[in-house]
Amino acid sequence: MQDAIWLNANIATMRDGSPYGAIHDGVLAVESGRISWVGPRKEWQGQVRVEHDARGAWITPGLVDCHTHLVYAGDRAEEFELRLKGATYEEIARAGGGIVATVRSTRAATEDELLATAQGRLQQWVREGVTVVEVKSGYGLTLEAELRMLRAARRLKGITVRTTFLGAHALPEEYKDRSDEYIRAVCDEMLPAAAHERLVDAVDAFCERIGFSPDQTARVFDTAKRHGLPVKLHADQLSDLGGAALASRYGALSADHLEYSSEMGIKAMAHGGTVAVLLPGAFYFLREKKLPPVDAMRRYRVPIALATDHNPGSSPLSSILLVLNMACTLFGLTPEEALAGVTRNGALALGMQDSHGMLDAGKQADFALWQVKTPAELAYAIGANPCAQVVRAGQIQPIAS
Ligand SMILES: [Zn+2]
Repeated sequence: MQDAIWLNANIATMRDGSPYGAIHDGVLAVESGRISWVGPRKEWQGQVRVEHDARGAWITPGLVDCHTHLVYAGDRAEEFELRLKGATYEEIARAGGGIVATVRSTRAATEDELLATAQGRLQQWVREGVTVVEVKSGYGLTLEAELRMLRAARRLKGITVRTTFLGAHALPEEYKDRSDEYIRAVCDEMLPAAAHERLVDAVDAFCERIGFSPDQTARVFDTAKRHGLPVKLHADQLSDLGGAALASRYGALSADHLEYSSEMGIKAMAHGGTVAVLLPGAFYFLREKKLPPVDAMRRYRVPIALATDHNPGSSPLSSILLVLNMACTLFGLTPEEALAGVTRNGALALGMQDSHGMLDAGKQADFALWQVKTPAELAYAIGANPCAQVVRAGQIQPIAS
């Protein structure tokens, strides 16, 4: 006896082989929080406790947002306004703006305050069919504040959370001109403490001229490896420092941004089994011009994932559906590639491919129902939300409107 089935549905399983792995007039069965059967209705047989009529909706895997900075305090709307009134970065920095402002307010917030604001933001993700979200630290930049961010992220409800330690996000003011010393603190104190408390699913760094050098990044990655933790990297966003290749050398789960990555870097990612995570929200908000090398990614068969990169500085974006549209309009992805980017490949970028990202028997029963005629509509529409229902681990999720 199955717990429940959804019938009268079109199902985008996202399996390889046919466009969207589509099954028309399909049935999806759930038992004990897992998918127990998925296929055409005419082949379905079995007994079931509850039948849900999907009324012709499309069912996709629960969406995965594999790169966010969702936990922080304060916002930067004032700085946005100043910038558009013509203030320079220097003037904004002098007025206390920039990442320093977010670090200051995050350090001043309690764990409960960080949790409450992040939980409020997260509603939007659930409303748009997201069932898995990755959350990074990186606005605390002290041992205590980084742990507080990670603890708050782990307490988020209504969604499956993966936490990433990003102590090497920015150089805190008190370490001005002493970045090697700060990296030592990250490697010797912060990361070991966070790992010891089991708050870390992966380790990330910001490898950039305005962030940390490839050498410093490698030191962080070596420490991650010693703790048996997988790595990810903010790579080649504003310049090519060889971040994609560096990440691949460490078998990184993903290298993210990648606008300036070279073909060699993409080739290295293919060898390293590293997913390319594209973040069109930051590209748009910073009005970048250099496009990520999508053709090279296709040529070398590097899986492409997409994410919001939600953060108060460079991507104050709370809509995964808008990410799909941006990836198509700005980066030239097809709607199917875009949907794969927030399902199958998003799960891969978090090492969750065995349980998430596709609709297959045995996987966790995470899926979303959409009132659309074709899955392409999810990427085509701007500002619409056709999500009708979200199911996580077999349970229909309450969605606040
Ligand atoms: Zn980021």
